[in-house]
Amino acid sequence: MAQRAIISGGSIGGLFAATALLKAGWHVDVYERTEVELAGRGAGIVTHDTLIDALTAVGADLTDLGVQVEDRVAFNKVGGRVATLPYTQIVTSWDRIHQMLRRLIPEGCYHLGQHITGYSQDDTDVTATFMDGSFKTAGLLVGADGFRSAIRTQMQPDIKPEYAGYVVWRALAREADLPKDVLSDVFPNFAFYAPSGTQIIGYPIAGPDNDLRSGHRRYNFVWYAPAPTDVLDDMLTDATGLRHTVSIPPPLVRDTVLHDMQQHAQKMLPATFVEILKVSERPFFTPIYDHHSPIMHDGRVALSGDAACVARPHVGMGVTKSAQDALSLAQFAGTDLAAYSHERVPASLLAHLRGRDLGAWIFEDDPNNRDGSSNARLTDIMRLTAVTID
Ligand SMILES: Cc1cc2nc3c(=O)[nH]c(=O)nc-3n(C[C@H](O)[C@H](O)[C@H](O)COP(=O)(O)OP(=O)(O)OC[C@H]3O[C@@H](n4cnc5c(N)ncnc54)[C@H](O)[C@@H]3O)c2cc1C
Repeated sequence: MAQRAIISGGSIGGLFAATALLKAGWHVDVYERTEVELAGRGAGIVTHDTLIDALTAVGADLTDLGVQVEDRVAFNKVGGRVATLPYTQIVTSWDRIHQMLRRLIPEGCYHLGQHITGYSQDDTDVTATFMDGSFKTAGLLVGADGFRSAIRTQMQPDIKPEYAGYVVWRALAREADLPKDVLSDVFPNFAFYAPSGTQIIGYPIAGPDNDLRSGHRRYNFVWYAPAPTDVLDDMLTDATGLRHTVSIPPPLVRDTVLHDMQQHAQKMLPATFVEILKVSERPFFTPIYDHHSPIMHDGRVALSGDAACVARPHVGMGVTKSAQDALSLAQFAGTDLAAYSHERVPASLLAHLRGRDLGAWIFEDDPNNRDGSSNARLTDIMRLTAVTID
């Protein structure tokens, strides 16, 4: 009889763990606390060969994976090109990856509205406890429950995500709504704007329902902006005065916060990017937190994806790292979870440290680089952003 695994968290990390374990012959049950099927607001995800190999290994259908970009191009404040780096890459969306993994989970094995609160274990089994007081027993428990993981909190209470002092604003604009100059200068490439103190990255992704036809795609706008803790407090406070703890659901972001962001954009960003923002769907922000767990297992319990380690989004490794965790987990689960931890902790640390470096470089004060024309680190930023770390 197949060994049973319980997976806490049904986002991309949980789905990768589930599909890799299924391939290795396990029976899986995925428990996701959210009541409805997850959706990623179409946010962009950069792919790497490693990710494509992992998707293939778990049996995903890669047809129409995403949009291929050929060059990385950096702009200055007046929209001039300051550097070009040929680098072919496929950019896709969170929804696309989530859907291609979700459909590999057998009927009845993915459970919504199920919140796991902790675990206990003995020599033969691990038991997950649920918010409603129920419990389930299996041979393996995977904590794929994100950066505020309940499983990690029990396993390693001292590891706590730390706020990095800035947020990422994201927005999506329909290709059909973009002005001609944006379409010709910015849209086709993986774009950068990197003055001292802020940073933009942007690239084209598929349109709704994975529409890859020219004229039907969207532009994925990503803007890293400083937000000291008092500013973040205000941004996380909704119209009723409630201060949300870590992040705020996008519909609850106050109009004044969005208005201030648009004002800052007007002052700080090249006109082409301001035009993209103007025609975008309602932008949303995520505070940047990170953490790294020095161990990824405890007996029959393993951590995976963001639960184990967050590499800031500059490295574009969140999804790829969770895929690598899953393949390694499937190799060692049932025999030696210490070997899993031994393999994945140093790899996660590399991505984590690279993410911190790329984040720190944004805020290096360089009086010669107020307009993005002469960033001394530009070559490294363009070379290392969203590139696999092996
Ligand atoms: C909606 C969304 C959009 C994203 N957009 C991007 C992006 O644009 N670019 C990028 O690089 N990364 C993005 N990410 C992050 C990226 O997807 C992750 O780095 C990567 O997929 C690995 O995430 P994860 O599954 O480990 O954690 P998460 O994506 O955080 O998922 C954890 C899941 O566990 C569930 N959960 C939490 N606690 C419990 C519990 N106690 N019991 C049961 N379930 C629980 C959560 O509801 C969530 O679905 C996004 C994530 C989400 C959820």
